[in-house]
Parts: sequence; C-alpha cells; structure tokens
Amino acid sequence: MPKIIVDLAEHSYNIIIDKGLWSKIGTKIRQMSAADKVAVITDDNVDALYGESLAKQLMLEKFKVKRIVMGHGEKNKNLQVLSNVYAALAAFGITRSDLIITLGGGVPGDLGGFAAATFLRGIDFIQIPTTLLAQVDSSVGGKVAVDLPEGKNLVGSFYQPKAVFIDPNLLKSLPERYLHDGLAEVIKYAAFDDAELFAKLEGFSGDAELLANITEIVAACCMIKARIVQKDEHDIGERMLLNFGHTIGHAVEKCYNYEGYTHGEGVGIGMVRLTEQTEKLGITAIGTNRRLRKMLAQYELPTAAQLTGKQILDVIALDKKKKGNAITLVVLDKIGSGHLLKIAFTDLAKYIV
Ligand code: NAD
Repeated sequence: MPKIIVDLAEHSYNIIIDKGLWSKIGTKIRQMSAADKVAVITDDNVDALYGESLAKQLMLEKFKVKRIVMGHGEKNKNLQVLSNVYAALAAFGITRSDLIITLGGGVPGDLGGFAAATFLRGIDFIQIPTTLLAQVDSSVGGKVAVDLPEGKNLVGSFYQPKAVFIDPNLLKSLPERYLHDGLAEVIKYAAFDDAELFAKLEGFSGDAELLANITEIVAACCMIKARIVQKDEHDIGERMLLNFGHTIGHAVEKCYNYEGYTHGEGVGIGMVRLTEQTEKLGITAIGTNRRLRKMLAQYELPTAAQLTGKQILDVIALDKKKKGNAITLVVLDKIGSGHLLKIAFTDLAKYIV
C-alpha cells in the first residue's frame, strides 16, 4: 500500500493509495480525527454511488454526518453553489473542531476544499478523490477554488488537506471518457518527469491492463506532484512544470467554448503542438513528439484540433494582457525530462506554428 508524505512543515499530510481502502475508510478517518460532526461535500453522481456507504461507515465510528450534495460538472463550481454549501454547513452547526470531507472529482474537491479553507476561517478537511484526474492531480497540493463568469479558478486559496485517501477501485464506475481525460494528465507527468512511467504506459495493451496497474501509476504521479509541491507550494517556480501542455490546451478548450474538447484532450493537443515546434527549434530530442502522439492515440485522445496558430495565439494574448510581456512555457528536452522556458510573448508564435 503506497503511502506518500507531502512534507510541508506543520501542513504535512499523507496520501494513502490502496485498492480496497474504501471498506475501511471510516476507521481510517476516525484514527485521524476526534471530530463530532463530519460534512461530506460531494456531487449528485458520486453521492448516488458512494454517499450512503461513506455515511454509514462514518456513523459506525460515532460521527454525526451530513451529506452536502451539489450538482455535477464544472458549471457548478461557482459562488452560488459555494454559498449554498456555506448555508448547509451553518445549518449543520459545524465548528472548528469538526471535519469536512470532499468526495468526488476535481469539482467537489476544489469547491469543497475552498469551503473548508474559508468557513469559520478554516476547518480540517480530507480529500477522497474519485476521478483519475483528482487522484493524480487535483486532490494533492492544496489548490482550492471556484470559478467566476470572468474565468476559471479566479477565487481560491492554498489550503492543504489533512490527508488524501485514494482507492483506485472507485475508478471502476468512472465513464471511459473521464478515465482517458485523467490519463492525459498522467501522460503529462510521465512526459516531463518519468521516462520509466512513459515506457510502462506505452507497453499496456489497453484500459484493462492500465487499470490492473493503476495503483502504481497513481502513486508515481502523486510522488511527482508531492515532490514539486514541497519545493514550490505557492506556484512561483517549479510547480509551473505541471502546466506542460496547458498554455495551448487552455486556448484550445476556450476556442471551442469548453464544449469541443475536455481539459485532458486540450492538454494532449497542447503537448503535441508545442513539442512539434520545440523539436524543430532544436530544444527537444527528435522522435519525442512521435512517441507523444502515438501514446495519446493509444488511449483514444486527440492529437490535433482544427485551429490555426493565429486563433490559438489570439486566445493566449487575451489572457496575457493581465500578466505582462513574458510567458513561461514548459518544454521537453526528451521523454522524461522537461524544463521551464521564459520567452518574450512576441516570440510565442514560433512555438505554436
Ligand atoms: P468532475 O469532478 O466534474 O468529475 C467528472 C465527472 O465524473 C462528474 O460528472 C462526476 O460526477 C463524475 N464522477 C466522479 N467520480 C466518479 C466515479 N468514481 N464514478 C462515476 N462518475 C464519477 O471533474 P474532474 O475531471 O475530476 O476535475 C476537473 C476539475 O479539477 C476542474 O474544475 C479543474 O479546474 C480542477 N483541477 C484542480 C486542480 C488543483 O490542483 N486543485 C488540478 C487540476 C484540475
């Protein structure tokens, strides 16, 4: 059973990854918390699958339990839903010695984590991620947030959980589309940091073999993220490596109004488009992009969108207005090794077309 420590002085915590952890999760939570009340923040899909089972286990451990169920999907990661969650926490009478659990993907994880960070100026919380994306990425590192109409994640905080409990068996109910979406982030980690993991993913024959090996894959990703967050908790340096593929990826998502491509699909397209250019520019070893493309196709992820370089640049430029004239890209040296490259915004075109 992999246990990874995120070492952040007084904010340190463990990530426990174990197939079958679910059946003993109530006991694990009681071992960590003397709380009287637990509020479980989740979405309707996840609640229907796992809400009752979690509540039963917590009640057996003598917690008083309230499930706070939001609608699923990004459109619900907003201030109105957050306000409803605050009202439910207040009605339940949560105090600062109680506990919040976020159960679900990145949406309830981010919104519930932000509620935990801010309600009564901070309540302990535990993340139980149920999507691949949340298990390898969003549940670790303490970024919690909600969206505004003006943009994603504009209101948020850095607030670390007390623990992250990951049962990869929960991914069995995840629709294939979301499995592959999260896998794009796994491919991203492997591409910039872990050549061995990349080779392993290349060797799998399909989803069944991937899922058979999912514990070690999730652990490998969490280890990379923990190491990076420890060095740069507040995202001013090395943590930016996690954005490989994201500058172009976000633009692709936005060009299609967030309806054409999922986040992971956008990231995949972004990784390929950038690496194609950095190979030509002599920054990245020849053959790297071929392996990236092949890997994405292997897991049914797109490698290109019908967008001109200008369309992508225009969207990035809109964002950049707020951030000055330089932009930091994450580029690969080769598979398994990446670095940050700060360039003048006026040079960006050659990294895209
Ligand atoms: P999500 O939470 O919307 O989950 C995707 C879908 O899967 C939802 O419909 C959900 O109901 C369903 N679902 C979740 N678990 C399930 C399961 N086990 N079985 C069946 N269905 C299940 O989205 P996501 O992709 O997990 O996360 C995306 C969010 O994560 C975005 O808001 C993004 O901004 C955020 N994010 C945050 C960080 C961070 O560091 N905090 C990092 C990356 C992404």
